[in-house]
Amino acid sequence: MFVFDILEANKFKDGGYYMVKAFATTVNCIDGRVQRCVNEFVSKQENVEYIDTITLAGPSKVISDNELLGVIDNVKFRLDVSVNGHQSNYISIVGHYDCTAILEDDETQKAYILNSSNIIQSWFPDVRVEALWVTEEFEIEKLRGEKQ
Ligand SMILES: [Zn+2]
Repeated sequence: MFVFDILEANKFKDGGYYMVKAFATTVNCIDGRVQRCVNEFVSKQENVEYIDTITLAGPSKVISDNELLGVIDNVKFRLDVSVNGHQSNYISIVGHYDCTAILEDDETQKAYILNSSNIIQSWFPDVRVEALWVTEEFEIEKLRGEKQ
């Protein structure tokens, strides 16, 4: 599954290598209201400069339902590039209040988020995976992960 070759990817045309900065990774909703607050939260918590952001409409439901296999493979591909290419050792799967893509209640969506965090962990056993919930006030709650 993991096709990404970091040495090839890090080579510039002139044969040099780019300086690896710190990256973390989020799998977030397409919803524009929830990306900046999550990325700022993760950047501060993980002390990294860059957040690789993979977006889907309601990603926790897509991953939990396991029906859109092409979409899920695409998410895996992008996670692979982030983890193995950018050396990210942190992934959060994010859900939020008032998600247009998930019509069930918040508790059901939170179950999707936790379930999908387990699935992502199984894809990347060596990476720390957190499950995050964005409240109506754009505050971030951890459904899974180290308490602060
Ligand atoms: Zn959403």
